[in-house]
Amino acid sequence: MYSIRDINLKEEGLRKIDWVRSNMPILNELERLFIKEQPFKGIKVSLSIHLEAKTAYLATIIKAGGAKIRVTGSNPLSTQDDIAAALVSLGLEVFAWYDATEEEYGTHLRSVLEFGPNVVIDDGGDLVSLLHTEMTDLLPEVYGGCEETTTGIVRLNALDRENRLKFPMMSVNDADCKHLFDNRYGTGQSVWDGILRTTNLVIAGKTVVVAGYGWCSKGIAMRAKGLGASVIITEIDPVKAIEAVMDGFAVMNMDEASYLGDFFVTATGCKDVITEKHFYQMKEGAILSNAGHFNVEVSYADLERIAVKITNRRKNITGYLLSNGKTVNLLGEGRLVNLTCADGHPAEIMDMSFAIQALCAKYIVEQKGKLSNHVHKVPKEIDEFVALFKLKSLGITIDTLTEEQHEYMNSWEL
Ligand code: NAD
Ligand code: SAH
Repeated sequence: MYSIRDINLKEEGLRKIDWVRSNMPILNELERLFIKEQPFKGIKVSLSIHLEAKTAYLATIIKAGGAKIRVTGSNPLSTQDDIAAALVSLGLEVFAWYDATEEEYGTHLRSVLEFGPNVVIDDGGDLVSLLHTEMTDLLPEVYGGCEETTTGIVRLNALDRENRLKFPMMSVNDADCKHLFDNRYGTGQSVWDGILRTTNLVIAGKTVVVAGYGWCSKGIAMRAKGLGASVIITEIDPVKAIEAVMDGFAVMNMDEASYLGDFFVTATGCKDVITEKHFYQMKEGAILSNAGHFNVEVSYADLERIAVKITNRRKNITGYLLSNGKTVNLLGEGRLVNLTCADGHPAEIMDMSFAIQALCAKYIVEQKGKLSNHVHKVPKEIDEFVALFKLKSLGITIDTLTEEQHEYMNSWEL
């Protein structure tokens, strides 16, 4: 079964998957292991992650491990129709297309769940949310699941705090080999990839305002500095704000920063970070983008409401003419700019994130019935396996403690 835009797009999709496969050595290794060991034999997996080439490769290796898998995207604007077609041609059940309406997107999510999954792989919590609300009849078959992103974990923790989580969930995002690299270096590069591809403007000498100084924002700010921009950080957490100061950035509130920025990037997981009041204070031509979950950080609703005129200025750039005569430009409808305006994080980064996903999915199957219905940390061994294999793929050998060193590090005597 499948529901996609056009199966004829498969050739380009297959080429893209082949390209990432040759740049994801950890997944290559897991693919070999899964083919041999069949850890998912007879297991049904529902997967909802941005449907582009790296996710497609993850889905194929889970299938190669014996799973029956249904796949959809985690954002209507990040789905690539050629990738969906390629996956169908490889025998996977895919339900997704680019630019699905909210209703179609909901139907796709329900379709991947309808076959009664044992394992759910989620990005942002949409599948888990459906299983806890309108599809509770499927709960008895679910062994557990894995969550990809920060906001998804925030939502899961909220459910867990109320003791309402109905199956164990692995917090993939919190693994070191995920957020330290994916959120920081992945977002740092792919956000600028999205902004540069879309605007084709120069960054050097411009002022970039980055909202938040968490893992994603740190990467975005670091790369903006590298491109020659002056960077301003806004925060709500006093410690993170000091960290930004010590890293050499200007720190101020959004009210002040809104007058100064040429480019604005939000990555907070919060809502209403940039709103009506700020838009009026911005320079003519300011470029707005978001890298955090959903289109509420840069208030899309406010822009749509207050604009005197809305124009499609270039692919993925919407111009909002305001009543003060100035135009501000929003990229990718305020959705994740790196995934709506580019191909998301590079293969070598997603290799680590998705190796954690694949190993956590395997762990969920192995631990069936043994894990409590809470959010669980990724076992240290999984993190270490991924780190060591990544180093190996880079041809790097590191030191190991001698017995004497180990003893020295573990003693309290002088
Ligand atoms: P994080 O928790 O490390 O950082 C978020 C930061 O934002 C925190 O320091 C917090 O204090 C700050 N913040 C919160 N509300 C704020 C506000 N109103 N104004 C200014 N700062 C505020 O989270 P993270 O891992 O950096 O993730 C941030 C968001 O990006 C999440 O929604 C996450 O799901 C998403 N994410 C996106 C990508 C991507 O590919 N685009 C990758 C990873 C995570
Ligand atoms: N449904 C939410 C999802 C948040 S996405 C939304 O659309 O707003 C954030 C996650 O995207 C990150 O945790 C990151 O791991 C993932 N991501 C980044 N680049 C990716 C890529 N190339 N392929 C698949 N997932 C990617």
